[in-house]
Amino acid sequence: MSPPRFTARAIGYWAILAACFALALAAGWTPPASRVDDYLYDWMLALNPPAPSPPHSLILAIDDSTLNAMGGQRRLRSILTRAVSLASAAHPRVLALDVILADPGDPAEDAALAAALRSVPNLVLPADISPSPVRASWELPLPAFRSAASALGHVQTDERSVDGVTRQISLEWILDHQRFWALSLEAFRLARGVSRILESPRDLTVGATLIPAPIGPAGERPLRIRFTTSALPSLSVRDLAVHPAFASRLTGQTVFLGVTSLSETRDRVRTPYGDTLSGVEVHAQAFETLRRGRFLVSSPDSYTVFLCAAFVLAAGLVFLFSSGWPAYSLGAALLLAAHSLPFFLFAHGFISPYVAPVGAAWLSAAAAASYQHFLVRRRLRRAESDTTRYRQAIHFVTHEMRTPLTAIQGSSEIMGRYQLPEEKRREIAGLINSESKRLARMIQTFLDVERLSAGQLELKLQPVNLRALVDTCIRRAQPLADRKNISVQLADPLDASIRADAELIEYAVYNLITNAIKYSPPDTRVTLSSTAARDAVTLSIADQGMGIDPADLKHIFTRFYRTRRAESSGIDGTGIGLSLVQQIVQAHSGRVAVTSSPGQGSCFSVTLPAASNN
Ligand code: ADP
Repeated sequence: MSPPRFTARAIGYWAILAACFALALAAGWTPPASRVDDYLYDWMLALNPPAPSPPHSLILAIDDSTLNAMGGQRRLRSILTRAVSLASAAHPRVLALDVILADPGDPAEDAALAAALRSVPNLVLPADISPSPVRASWELPLPAFRSAASALGHVQTDERSVDGVTRQISLEWILDHQRFWALSLEAFRLARGVSRILESPRDLTVGATLIPAPIGPAGERPLRIRFTTSALPSLSVRDLAVHPAFASRLTGQTVFLGVTSLSETRDRVRTPYGDTLSGVEVHAQAFETLRRGRFLVSSPDSYTVFLCAAFVLAAGLVFLFSSGWPAYSLGAALLLAAHSLPFFLFAHGFISPYVAPVGAAWLSAAAAASYQHFLVRRRLRRAESDTTRYRQAIHFVTHEMRTPLTAIQGSSEIMGRYQLPEEKRREIAGLINSESKRLARMIQTFLDVERLSAGQLELKLQPVNLRALVDTCIRRAQPLADRKNISVQLADPLDASIRADAELIEYAVYNLITNAIKYSPPDTRVTLSSTAARDAVTLSIADQGMGIDPADLKHIFTRFYRTRRAESSGIDGTGIGLSLVQQIVQAHSGRVAVTSSPGQGSCFSVTLPAASNN
C-alpha cells in the first residue's frame, strides 16, 4: 500500500466519521430529539425516585371543600386570614404563601389579613409576574402585607419545555433589574435559619447546602425537581378549621399555603409522571428537593460535544485496528455503553443527553463497519484477481511461448551437433534470431496488456495511419497466408488516421488477421475494409472460414475459451488472443464486435477513435 493512497483512504475514513459526528450533533439539537431526551429523563426519574424520607413540608390546601364551606373564591382573603391565623397558632417553621396579594380587596378584610400575617415569624410571600401581553412586570404583595414578610419569592413554575411538562424551576428570576429567589428557595433558607444565600455563577450556598445551579443561557438557574411518586402531605384549610387537633401536624414544618382547588387553580402544571399539580404543590416539591440535597445536574452543551466526539473516535479506532468478530463485539459494547451511560449517570445525579451520543455511536459504528467491510472486500477481490492473472500468465507462458522456444531449442541443437554448410547455418541462425525476437515481442505485449488491465500502463497515444499499420500486420502474416494459399486483400485504401498506441493496436490487428487465416480453409480470401465516421474509424476483417456458432459468439472474448469447431478442427490455439484484443481495444475506448455465419465465415470489426477528434 503506497503512502499517498493510504493517506487518502485514512482522510476519507475520518471524513465520513466527522460527518457522522456533525449529523448526530445537529440531530441532537432538534425539537424531536429534545422530546426523546425529555421522555427518557421522565422515565429515569420514575426509575430513580427519591429515597423515602419523612417530608419536612406540608401543603395547607385551599381545596374545593374549603372553598365550598368557607364562601368560595370571593371570600379568598378571609379564608386566607383564617388559614394564616390557624397555621400561625401551630408554630410552623416557615409559612410560604402562594396566593397573589397584589390587588387591594375589602379594607377590613385586608387589615385582618395583614394582622394575621404579622403574627407569623418566618413568612414568605409570593412575587408574581403580571401576565401583561405588552410588558411583563413584577406583581408584588401590597405594602401592608409585604411589611409582614421575612422574604418575597417568585412563583414562576411555567417551564419552557417543548412538551409543556414542568421538570425544573428557575431558582432565580430577574425582571426590571429586580431579582427574586424562588419561593421554595426562600422557604428553605428560612427553614435553615440562614440570613443570606451565597451565590457564584455555578452554584448557590444556603447554610451547609451547596446547590449546583449554573447560570443558563437565558440567565436562569434551573433546579430539576425530583418529584416524589406519591403526593406530599396535605391538609385542607377546612379540616384544620373543623379539627383544631390537626394543627399539631404543622408544628415545626415548612407550610405551603395555596389554592389546590381543581376548579379555581389556573397555575396547574404537568409533571414528568403524567399527573397535574397546582403551583403550591410544585413549590413544596421543589422545597423537598432542596431539603433532600440530592441534586440532578444538567450537562452543559460542551459535554454533549465531547461525548459525541468520544463515541465517534472510539468507533473509528475499533474498526480501524480490529476486524471481524472482535470488531463487531467491541462495536456492540460501544453501542451498549452509549445506551446505558445516561442511566448510569442519572443514578449519580448527572443528566446526560441521549439522542446525540447514541446517534453518534450508531452512525459512526455503522459507517466505520461498512467502510472497513467494503475495504476488506475490495482488497480480497483485488487479491483474487491478482491470483487469477498470475495463473493466466503461467498458462500463457507454458502454452504460447512453447512454440518459439521449441524452434529455438531444436535449431540450436542442430547447429551444435552437426557440421552444417554455411548457407544452412545462416538460415538456422536467422530462424533462431526471428523466433527469439518473436518471443521477446510476445513477452513484451503480454506484459503490456497485463499492466494495462492492472491500470499500471499508460497508453502511448499518437496519430496512427491505419493503412501503414495494416500493411505491417499483413507483411508479418503473409508467410502464414502463403502456406494456405489465402489471399489477404484490402477492399478500400484504408485511408484513415486513428489515435492509438501503435504497438498494442498492431498486436490486436495482427491477432485478428492471423485468426482469420488460421480458421479458414486453404484457397480462400481474407478481406480488410474500413468505414470512417465523424469521430471513429472501424476496421473490419472478414474471412471465409469455419465461422462461429451463435452460442459461442458471446464467449469467444473470454480468456481460454475456444469454440468446439476450432477444438475439433485440430488447429492449435490457447484462447488468449481475443481476450487481449478486447482489452487493448477497450483501453482505447473502442469496441470490438463479431458477426459470423457458421461454415461460411466471420467478420471481426474494431472501432477506434479517429485521430482528428482527439
Ligand atoms: P486461439 O486462436 O489461440 O484459440 P483466440 O482468443 O484468438 O485464441 O480465439 C478464441 C477462439 O475464438 C478460437 O479458439 C476460435 O474458436 C474462435 N475464433 C477466433 N477467431 C476466429 C475466426 N476468424 N473464425 C472462427 N473462429 C474464430
